[in-house]
Amino acid sequence: MNNGKYYLKAAKVFTEQKIITQGYVLVENSLIKKIENVPISDVEVIDLGDVNLIPGMIDMHIHGREGCDIMDAKMSSMETISLSLAKYGVVGFLGTTVTANWQQTLDAFKIVGQASKRKMPGAQVLGAYNEGLFFTETHKGAHNEKFFLPLTKDRIDAIYQACQGMLKVMALAPEFEDSTEVIQYLNSLGVKVMLGHTNATYQQAKEALAAGACGGVHIFNGMSGIHHRDPGCAGAVLMNKSALAEVIADGIHLHPTIMQLIYALKGPDKMALISDCINAGGFSDGRYRLGELDVFVKNGVARTKEGSLAGSTLTLNVSVKNLVNMAKIPLLEAINMASLVPAKHLDLENTLGSISVNKRACFAVMDDNFEVQATIIDGQPVYVKQGYKPLSELKFV
Ligand SMILES: [Zn+2]
Repeated sequence: MNNGKYYLKAAKVFTEQKIITQGYVLVENSLIKKIENVPISDVEVIDLGDVNLIPGMIDMHIHGREGCDIMDAKMSSMETISLSLAKYGVVGFLGTTVTANWQQTLDAFKIVGQASKRKMPGAQVLGAYNEGLFFTETHKGAHNEKFFLPLTKDRIDAIYQACQGMLKVMALAPEFEDSTEVIQYLNSLGVKVMLGHTNATYQQAKEALAAGACGGVHIFNGMSGIHHRDPGCAGAVLMNKSALAEVIADGIHLHPTIMQLIYALKGPDKMALISDCINAGGFSDGRYRLGELDVFVKNGVARTKEGSLAGSTLTLNVSVKNLVNMAKIPLLEAINMASLVPAKHLDLENTLGSISVNKRACFAVMDDNFEVQATIIDGQPVYVKQGYKPLSELKFV
């Protein structure tokens, strides 16, 4: 027993700006209280061993895992996803919808809202992400266009109420007449607007960003791409200094050179790793459902029967690994892209997203092969890999 006060010692501690070798992080009352090289003598030290102590990761765009989908509109599915994400170092996520009929969508938001207000067994639900309904057909990806709807204030209000005000992100295609007012309305509710599944021209996307949209959904995928005579939505997001680019770093959705191009243009602060994982994540290849569509997973890559990519089976620890190995992005920056950058995007950086004094004691313990050994939320382990001794043998209060 340690009365909620202890040090975590790790070979490398990743803070926002630097990596501290043989660092000690003091946890007290579920918060990070100190980060130092020499511990105070009378406090218990938990030696995590030759591992990296990194901030708990935040997956802000995820549809499902292990056979469960946000669209199931079931608390048991939310719990399965929560536990599955904890195995990969994720401490918080946004329950992300996909295009389906209107009532099913509201039912899903209702459960995401409820899950956001209770303690979950693994990763916590930080709110809802609407990725559905308000798109256009050209870059529909794995969204069934027969359910597409015009985005109106009434529909926004209905979604907002269904999830008890926990709507954090709204993805939309901005090529409709009153998009400026709609974007401003969403912002007035505190909802971030992301451009996605859109055929918006460069000009339309630029205007949407000027009106208050703040980034691009899985950049390059599901949007008008860059042509040298028409920079498209991708060009608008990449060239707008404050816009955030969501990145799926599975090596399939984006060529490594394109990952480097995004990094060159967005820098480390406006590039966020998302998994976009679907219910096949954590399961073997085969046939699955994403919303209303059949999805076929082969070698871990999910596609519709027409061949469109349909989300991924990715995890954020693997995304970090891929950014480092494929795109040669520095490890500390890649880790921040899975933690601090999403925390800032969701206005949660005062409590989550980095190993900093007075933030919540949320960590992932990751080895040099990017394998997660343990995940800690508010000072309590929510996942410990079988055979990883330092945390399994300790009792927490
Ligand atoms: Zn999508």
